[in-house]
Amino acid sequence: MRTKCLIIGSGPAGYTAAIYAGRANLQPVLIEGPQLGGQLMTTTEVENFPGYPDGVEPFQMMDDMKRQAERFGTTFVSGIVTKVNFQTTSNTGEARKPHQVWVEDTDLYEADAVIIATGASAKYLGIESERTYKGRGVSACATCDGFFYRKKTVAVVGGGDTACEEANYLAGLCEKVYMIVRKPYLRASEIMQQRVLNNPKIEVLFEHNTLRLTGETKVQGADLVYRKGEPDEELRHIAIDGFFLAIGHHPNTDLFKDFIARDAEGYILTDGVSTQCFKCGNAEMGKCENEKMEGVFAAGDCADPHYRQAIVAAGSGAKAAIEADKYIKSL
Ligand code: NDP
Repeated sequence: MRTKCLIIGSGPAGYTAAIYAGRANLQPVLIEGPQLGGQLMTTTEVENFPGYPDGVEPFQMMDDMKRQAERFGTTFVSGIVTKVNFQTTSNTGEARKPHQVWVEDTDLYEADAVIIATGASAKYLGIESERTYKGRGVSACATCDGFFYRKKTVAVVGGGDTACEEANYLAGLCEKVYMIVRKPYLRASEIMQQRVLNNPKIEVLFEHNTLRLTGETKVQGADLVYRKGEPDEELRHIAIDGFFLAIGHHPNTDLFKDFIARDAEGYILTDGVSTQCFKCGNAEMGKCENEKMEGVFAAGDCADPHYRQAIVAAGSGAKAAIEADKYIKSL
């Protein structure tokens, strides 16, 4: 299938890009990916997206965005992108080739412009009870879900800047915040550490690991182990209402690593305020040429290690579509 504009990802960035590209008459094709609606679907309610004064369920919000994109002529493809081939412009004057994207290894899509909006995935500990209580006390986003734990007791796992930031944020809402840190020290920057250590509502549990979460239908507690494997190993139970993971995110960008430049964490590098990607020219050597990649744009959390908010992702989706439109019109 040949299209002008292909969008990969169905979170706020992807759908917003589709709305803008559709209204620009690009007749976009959007590949929905493994998690329809993106990361937001793992939360319980969205209260901080403008336009929903009473809050909205994530499913409803993403369905609204999808219908809006559909109204302007987006074609949706359910499936997972398994391979891409981004064509770089040759110096030999031969005709420019379209970028190629394969869905489920078999279906080939060719496009003048590709917008990558594949998001990022929060890292989880990998214990079974995390899955049992997902959306019922387990969250990976304090800004999204902290409000539901006002005057309650919560735990934040992790000792980096994100964990400290989230613990401080939650301390402003909750009665008490435990930080569960596996090392005897925090990894976060000095200033973030001081904020946490000086906050009377936060208790840092150094050298603790989480064994399991407990509770009848929702999280009510956590079984921890102190100094696992040491002679003074000790089991401990804490009563909590919420369990927040802050042990890092992984951007879903591995698929593109041979073509576009990413930072050490895997976030796609873009050209300043623009969403245009850079080439990664010599894949074998892992070296990037630091030249712009024509017709490939990145939006949302796959290129954003800082904000990770639906509204920011939606904004960058709009930017990517405007830039894709400008690029296509220049051809
Ligand atoms: P980091 O990788 O910096 O920290 C992750 C934390 O989670 C570490 O304390 C790590 O422990 C812990 N951890 C990882 N895996 C596990 C596990 N399986 N069990 C228990 N604990 C675990 O990630 P962040 O998201 O905090 O930060 C990412 C980047 O973003 C950093 O560069 C950070 O500085 C930056 N950032 C900056 C902010 C700011 O400046 N305001 C705010 C937020 C992020 P261990 O230390 O033992 O490895």
